[in-house]
Amino acid sequence: MHVILAQPRGFCAGVVRAIEIVDRALERYGAPVYVRHEIVHNKAVVGGLRARGAVFVEALAEVPPQAVTIFSAHGVARAVEADARARDLRVLNATCPLVAKVHIQGRLYAAAGRVVILIGHAGHPEVEGTMGQIDGRVLLVQDEADVDALDLPAATPVAYITQTTLSVDDTRAVIAALQRRFPDLVGPDVRDICYATQNRQRAVRELCRQVDVLLVVGAANSSNSNRLREIGSESGIRSHLLADGSELDPAWVAGAATVGITAGASAPEAMVEHVIAALRALGPVEVSAMDGLEEHVEFKLPPELAGRAA
Ligand code: SF4
Repeated sequence: MHVILAQPRGFCAGVVRAIEIVDRALERYGAPVYVRHEIVHNKAVVGGLRARGAVFVEALAEVPPQAVTIFSAHGVARAVEADARARDLRVLNATCPLVAKVHIQGRLYAAAGRVVILIGHAGHPEVEGTMGQIDGRVLLVQDEADVDALDLPAATPVAYITQTTLSVDDTRAVIAALQRRFPDLVGPDVRDICYATQNRQRAVRELCRQVDVLLVVGAANSSNSNRLREIGSESGIRSHLLADGSELDPAWVAGAATVGITAGASAPEAMVEHVIAALRALGPVEVSAMDGLEEHVEFKLPPELAGRAA
């Protein structure tokens, strides 16, 4: 079996920064540090940090007063920020700067008197955070049918913003539906929303031209990993999402001469290695990486964590 690895794949700069924030907070302040929601959607990463003293909570009510508290890469609503202040928590914000950029875009559109339409998945923490960061009316649409169902006059000044990890193609279809309904529509170029989403999706499309089966390493609740698997399926390739090698079903790769592997933005490279090891257990495997972009994006840490602890 020939395995071809997507390039780029795996960790993005927002995930690296979020993990680094928890890591440095543990080093600087000592355990426990509290993290609201999974810092990134990956059980292995969360388990490793938990073993070092990070305590993951879903509600700030679970955090003792004045404790060091980290907001996850997905971002939080302003109500959560206010709740943290009221509880006198010492907050470190690991919201990805590209998610924060969407918050700012949404606020500017709302301040300009536009109804803001967020294209995203209901219930995802990034969507809940973004909706709660914008004053004024924010409506969530998930697909073209939701656009058709919007109870807004056609002349309404409207702006769209999007969840960072959606499929660029799906998002375009929803934007086209919005354009058909609302002539006064503005919004950002979807290719500029998140470099990592765009690069991983482009790479997986290219990879699908070369393989019989696609394996996407990532968590079931990882939005960007699910989009990568969907792109594989849309390309006509059998595509499966798996957290690590223990979830590999031999039937998925039976008869496949060439298997492509990519990884979501929150999946560590060790999980990719784990999947390759599981494939090797089935028979001889030759591994190569596709030609692709080398990423050199880095995001700054919060100033209080920028230098290493003594
Ligand atoms: Fe930030 Fe993009 Fe990574 Fe999400 S996928 S954490 S928006 S860099």
